[in-house]
Amino acid sequence: MEQRLQGDESGWWLLSYAGKLWLPKGEIPHGLASEFGLRNESAHRIGEWQSESVWLVCKEQAREMASVRQLLDEDRGLFQLAGRAVQLEEFYRAHKFCGYCGNKMHVSDREWACLCNHCRQRYYPQIAPCIIVAIRREDKILLAQHNRHRGGIYTALAGFVEVGETLEQAVAREVMEESNINVTNLRYISSQPWPFPHSLMVAYLADYAGGDLKIDKSELLDADWFHYDKLPQLPPPGTIARRLIEDTIALCRSEQY
Ligand SMILES: [Zn+2]
Repeated sequence: MEQRLQGDESGWWLLSYAGKLWLPKGEIPHGLASEFGLRNESAHRIGEWQSESVWLVCKEQAREMASVRQLLDEDRGLFQLAGRAVQLEEFYRAHKFCGYCGNKMHVSDREWACLCNHCRQRYYPQIAPCIIVAIRREDKILLAQHNRHRGGIYTALAGFVEVGETLEQAVAREVMEESNINVTNLRYISSQPWPFPHSLMVAYLADYAGGDLKIDKSELLDADWFHYDKLPQLPPPGTIARRLIEDTIALCRSEQY
């Protein structure tokens, strides 16, 4: 999977370092490796987009390194590959030495893994599952302002899955902890890799089952039940949170409240 570039390889070039990508003029470089001075660099072919190879080169450029967030409005497939590039670079850089025996590791040529030369331990990139849930109560939806979000956006509740917990248990626990609400009729909708830094968002719709809204101030600034046609500022289109909110609005409308 890792190869030394000759210069005549072509495609999309994802140069990544420390969670950032090289985006000259805000775009992903496209063309021959030699056009971008990448001859003799080591590269990983990490996928295909528009029938052309997408390459990861673990390298920092002096200028125009930017966050993957800049690609949020791009095609979903391209955003996913950019997220893959950033996470793999982070993984390779953090796994040069074995955590068990301290010896040097090498990158596997069969899969996205690092292998210990000494004790044969095998490491894979870490993915952190995270649930996100839109909760409906008749013609209203529960939306919250998170401490970690800037700009007054109200969104669905979300949280990381803990070790030894099912996704369903994580939803019930997170919602109870953050809002003191019980939910029922949990329905899986979709998932989305979210490379900030290495989450997999697992999205659900749910219905209100009981409890008075009481927020956890350490996690949320505010939360409330909003009528579906009087909504506050929502997360941007393209996010899974927005999709869940739109789905809930459609459900409210279809039942003609
Ligand atoms: Zn080892």
